[in-house]
Order: sequence, then structure tokens, then C-alpha cells
Amino acid sequence: MARTRTTSTPWTADDEARLLATARAAARRAFAPHSKLRVGAAVLARDGRVVPGCNLESLAYGATLCAERAALGAAVAAGVAPADVVAVAVVSGRIDLAPCGVCRQLLADVAPRCLVLHRAGGRFVTTPVEALLPGRMMPWRR
Ligand SMILES: [Zn+2]
Repeated sequence: MARTRTTSTPWTADDEARLLATARAAARRAFAPHSKLRVGAAVLARDGRVVPGCNLESLAYGATLCAERAALGAAVAAGVAPADVVAVAVVSGRIDLAPCGVCRQLLADVAPRCLVLHRAGGRFVTTPVEALLPGRMMPWRR
């Protein structure tokens, strides 16, 4: 599949393949009985680790967890320092999908310099998280 990058990427083609394969495998394990939208995500850490996440839906909609936040939480819990989150990939079959606003905010808070790999216009694009959420809530300085 042709990939268009909106920014340069600090990872190899192998890293990207592992990232997308991990996200796709996670999507197959998603718990999405309500929307039927199975979403997988994967975090690429600076040391090469790839950590998956999938969406988990609840009847109480506010309790639903997106794949991107699940992957980010799993990565941090596994010992990936937030500053070492290089990228987050998100996939759901062959549909165009980008992180929701809540995930964009959390990604921007925890890993403000990470890149997001997602489908847009039928191909994968890489976008800095800061570009996905301009003017985000940011009450502190780093
Ligand atoms: Zn989300």
C-alpha cells in the first residue's frame, strides 16, 4: 500500500510493518459489541518495543476505552517512558480513521512529540500529535 507521510518518520520500514501488524492483531481482539467498530492501536517505543491496545466498549458509553488510550496506558505500564513514545498507530480494517478528540488530548499530554500513523484518504499518513489537536488544553509548560 502506498503511504504518504505528512512528516518525516524516525522509524524503519520494519518498525512500521511491526507497528501496523500489532495494531491489526489488536483490532481483531477488540471488544466492540455496540459499534462493531474494532479498532487496534500500537505504540512504538524508542527502544523498538511495540505495545498493542484495542478498544473496549461499555454499555455505559463514558466507560468505553479507545484503542489508542489502551495502547498508551499499556506502554507506560510496561515501562515505556512517556518521552520515549515515538509513534502511535491506529487501524480499523481498511477504513479511514484518526484518533478521537479525547485520545488526541491524552496523546498530546503524555507524549506531545509522538507521531500518529493512521489512514486518511485510503492510505496511511503520519501526523504529529500536535498538528491533530491545535490549541489543545495545556495549562502547564514543559
Ligand atoms: Zn479515542
